[in-house]
Amino acid sequence: GGMTAALVAAQRQHEVHLFEKEKALGGQLRFAAQAPHKEKLLWFVEYLEEMLPKAGVSVHLGSEATPETVLALKPQAVIVASGGTPVIPEFSALDPSFACTAWDILRGSVVLEAKDVVVVGGGVVGCEVALFLAERGNRVTLVEMLPHLAVDAEVITRIELLKALGASSVRIMTSTRCMDVEGRRVVYLCDADPRTSELHPEYIVFALGTQPNRALFDELSGKVQELFLIGDAREPRKIFHAVYEGALAATQV
Ligand SMILES: Cc1cc2nc3c(=O)[nH]c(=O)nc-3n(C[C@H](O)[C@H](O)[C@H](O)COP(=O)(O)OP(=O)(O)OC[C@H]3O[C@@H](n4cnc5c(N)ncnc54)[C@H](O)[C@@H]3O)c2cc1C
Repeated sequence: GGMTAALVAAQRQHEVHLFEKEKALGGQLRFAAQAPHKEKLLWFVEYLEEMLPKAGVSVHLGSEATPETVLALKPQAVIVASGGTPVIPEFSALDPSFACTAWDILRGSVVLEAKDVVVVGGGVVGCEVALFLAERGNRVTLVEMLPHLAVDAEVITRIELLKALGASSVRIMTSTRCMDVEGRRVVYLCDADPRTSELHPEYIVFALGTQPNRALFDELSGKVQELFLIGDAREPRKIFHAVYEGALAATQV
């Protein structure tokens, strides 16, 4: 979202500074592309990376935008495209040595091989990370509270994803709600059974969605002439929304 906003604004002859706190541009697309068959997502990032300097955008990598750094530039407009962070459930006895998020797995900051793994959350990201883990020799159980998997996927992606899951070794438990996680103990409740049951994996991976990062936007409110909030920072959704809102904001500056 931010890359598109910067490109469109620069193409409209504005002087543009793009801040990225990580060492590389691309946000969630960098690791979303690690899931099976999604490597082409990186083509879009590579295209934008090539276009930004050509359009004259000053790219500041490894540089977190704060209210101070932003206001020091005395900008006419600020487009906040700060994305989101993965939701981590608030179970009191959650032990981070046995649990992580789908983002950690796809980013490679947690590497699991030949382990018993429970993935909690069977939306698109949970399904993709389950396949990713199964391809690396893990014995994966995917727990989803709804009766169906990947209900947030668009239709063609969903058909392919369900086919791939069906052909994989992933054990699927739908209509199953994760009630608590204590260390390596996962307590769950099936719609069909009023009693709770337990799983005892070696590792637990949460794929429970994204929460927006809007702190910077809130801190800048009322301090700059024109302020926009776009993409997942506004409301976690899809690439299309981030790109569309980024381009739209850049044309409104
Ligand atoms: C595993 C996974 C798979 C996905 N697959 C798909 C898919 O197939 N199709 C689809 O449409 N969508 C998919 N999505 C969703 C899609 O990736 C996001 O909707 C999209 O990336 C949102 O773009 P964004 O620019 O709003 O935020 P992000 O991609 O999160 O980018 C925000 C950027 O801002 C940086 N940042 C944050 N705060 C600051 C700061 N203060 N200073 C400087 N930099 C900062 C972050 O480091 C990050 O690089 C997937 C998401 C995940 C996690």
